[in-house]
Amino acid sequence: MNRPVSPILHDYKPSAGSPIKKFNALHWFAVGLGLPLIGIALLLTLKNASGTNTSIVEKDVVATMAEQDVRLAIALVEAGPAEPVAVAEPIPFPAFHPPLRLPPEYEQLSLTIKRGDTLAALFRSNKLDPGHLAMIVRIPEAAPYLKRLIPGDEFQIEHDEGNLISLYRELDLTSALRITKEESGFSAEIIERPIEVRRKLAYGRIDTSLFESATAAGLADKLIMNLAGIFAWDVDFVLDIRGGDHYTILFEEIYQEGEYIADGDIIAAEFNNSGRTFQAIRFVDKSGRSDYYTPDGLSVRKAFVRAPVDFSRISSSFNPRRKHPILNTIRAHRGVDYAAPSGTPIKAAGDGKVIFRGRKNGYGNAVIVQHGGNITTLYAHMSRFDSSSRVGRRVVQGQTIGYVGMTGLANAPHLHYEYRLNGVHRNPRTVKLPQAEPIREEYRANFLAAAAPILDELLQYKRTQVVYLTSE
Ligand SMILES: [Zn+2]
Repeated sequence: MNRPVSPILHDYKPSAGSPIKKFNALHWFAVGLGLPLIGIALLLTLKNASGTNTSIVEKDVVATMAEQDVRLAIALVEAGPAEPVAVAEPIPFPAFHPPLRLPPEYEQLSLTIKRGDTLAALFRSNKLDPGHLAMIVRIPEAAPYLKRLIPGDEFQIEHDEGNLISLYRELDLTSALRITKEESGFSAEIIERPIEVRRKLAYGRIDTSLFESATAAGLADKLIMNLAGIFAWDVDFVLDIRGGDHYTILFEEIYQEGEYIADGDIIAAEFNNSGRTFQAIRFVDKSGRSDYYTPDGLSVRKAFVRAPVDFSRISSSFNPRRKHPILNTIRAHRGVDYAAPSGTPIKAAGDGKVIFRGRKNGYGNAVIVQHGGNITTLYAHMSRFDSSSRVGRRVVQGQTIGYVGMTGLANAPHLHYEYRLNGVHRNPRTVKLPQAEPIREEYRANFLAAAAPILDELLQYKRTQVVYLTSE
């Protein structure tokens, strides 16, 4: 699992890998403690040899042993003739070696499915018993996971000179198939692979681009996409981003057996854009549906997103310090232009119905969507339409309706976007949008109670990061 290393300190719990190291340290500590104690014990033994209080010592040993577990008994045996050491304070850590890891008993084989592979062919080429494959595909619990394979599927196989001993296949994040050889035939079971969710905080500051800031903060692109998705109704991530913008994120990381697997959801986030501050906190309702709300309990969702274009294709090359030349013409033609590579998906800014799709003089290939409240949006210069944007079709916010191009009057690939209210052009980047929906009343109290400490945690972290970064 490749992921960038963050220069920022994160406050998650120690990984599950560390107890082993800790144990070794304790082990040596115990040895260090044990040797002097053995010395003391030897002295005591010598004293006892003169026949004074041996019986009392023995009683203490028995009592101590009853209180300790079997491992302490082993430690005492190892200590040899000096057992009476136990009269001293009980040894806090048993001085014994962890069992040595035995080398695997059977040959290990890892198979990755490639295009056109079948298990039968892989068994043949790896000289595994085809009869065993025939047996395991007959097990009803296992069959679906052995017959339908896609490239990239992995199988861990143990075998003894071609005789199948076990087969293991991860099915999804939390389950796996395990087939084991029994005395007669094979058994199959679906095993659970519990995941652990850790919380992590991150702070990013934009110098050149949102994505570069994310890389610098050790964040995956997908997480940044999710961050942008949360604030897409307030911030135009193509045109609004400026150097000096910054953000703080509290998010989940998914671990399994102590290993990082993937990023989970964003729990809370703040985005500071040109002096404006936006905050969002996740709330999961009874049915498990999660959504984001402002600290006051208003949905972050609005009827229109600010930038109806897949910004991930743009922002990676976007330099916020550079003023885009086409931007200067906004007033002249009453629309917003998003310079973007040809083929970049264009998305419906809001829910609505397609009322026009086709060639429209200078606009080239254009789509017009009718929304509620007598609002229409227009998307021009498309290289092609999406099949879902036929006239009369309903589209939902964020749905791809076409692709960036330079048809009509355009000297470079870009999306020309217009927003009209009652037929009058409005600047879609600044137009006041209808008030967002509040969180449902039944959840309101719960949300407000839960949101406050989360937001506190986020902002407290932000303060430490701001101090840290400005003191550099
Ligand atoms: Zn334009």
